[in-house]
Amino acid sequence: MCEKEKKPLLEVRHLKKYFTVGKETLKAIDDISFEVYPGETLGLVGETGCGKSTTGRVCINLYKKTAGEVLYYGRDVHHMNRKQQKEFHRNVQIVFQDPYSSLDPRMTVADIVGEGLEIHKLVNNRQSRNEKVFHALAEVGLTQEHANRFVHEFSGGQRQRIGIARALVMNPEFIVLDEPISALDVSIQAQIVNLLIELQKEKNLTYLFIAHDLAMVKHISDRIAVMYLGHIMELAPSSTLYSHPLHPYTKSLMAAIPFPEPDAEQRRRTQRKPLSGEIPSPMHPPSGCPFRNRCPMATSLCAECVPELKEYTPGHYAACHLANH
Ligand code: SF4
Repeated sequence: MCEKEKKPLLEVRHLKKYFTVGKETLKAIDDISFEVYPGETLGLVGETGCGKSTTGRVCINLYKKTAGEVLYYGRDVHHMNRKQQKEFHRNVQIVFQDPYSSLDPRMTVADIVGEGLEIHKLVNNRQSRNEKVFHALAEVGLTQEHANRFVHEFSGGQRQRIGIARALVMNPEFIVLDEPISALDVSIQAQIVNLLIELQKEKNLTYLFIAHDLAMVKHISDRIAVMYLGHIMELAPSSTLYSHPLHPYTKSLMAAIPFPEPDAEQRRRTQRKPLSGEIPSPMHPPSGCPFRNRCPMATSLCAECVPELKEYTPGHYAACHLANH
């Protein structure tokens, strides 16, 4: 079944999230729309400050929205009653980027992993909590012996496994993975990605996988959305995005990915030009296209009109006046 025939698990519609900083407004998310379908991984990629982590947090109601809506199976996540909220917070989990700071160093692994079970009153006693905790630890490749230790006794990769176990123990449907491999050594990153892929297959999990470069989401994403300065610049099935990127920003991000072997055709298609300059402040975005002050193709039109996110081929969207060129 193609994605469009499935009902989305998550629908994000014209979402905005603004923060007030002194007397100014920081537009962290500025009118984005996308869907996440059951069982898929949507990669959400962009540089620091593009709004991707804020998007993950607003989607699971850790932050309030400014405007727009986020629907979970059609229900507005920011307007749920207590019972619906409780169910939502059990079904939807988040794994944070930094396992060093997101896990409480004073708690044992069993207490960290089992905390959600106790908060949600899903266990009646210590024995049933421990059974579920040991099961979750085994699912991420850790053992019962690890349960009574403290997080400082573990390596970075093991700590992220503990973070994943803490999410899994709740038996969720949807997990927001907020840069789950960015803080890890390259050799460990692949192990964690492979673990996440295996768990997804076994449990039919749905992921929003947030990362700051395209290389990190390549092997896990079914579709990828590229964000820049609070906007979605391009959204496409993974294979299409890598083989036929339309947006100059996506092409620049591609330039950072080393190809395994020389591939003249791919180089030609992606027009590898490294990105120069810094992402502008979301408090002072440029007029027109948000990417225009770094875009090698910018014209006068780009300063005047904000490009719409248009569908160029089925499922392949881009926000660029010159996407066809
Ligand atoms: Fe570049 Fe203009 Fe396209 Fe923006 S709209 S990405 S500035 S060509």
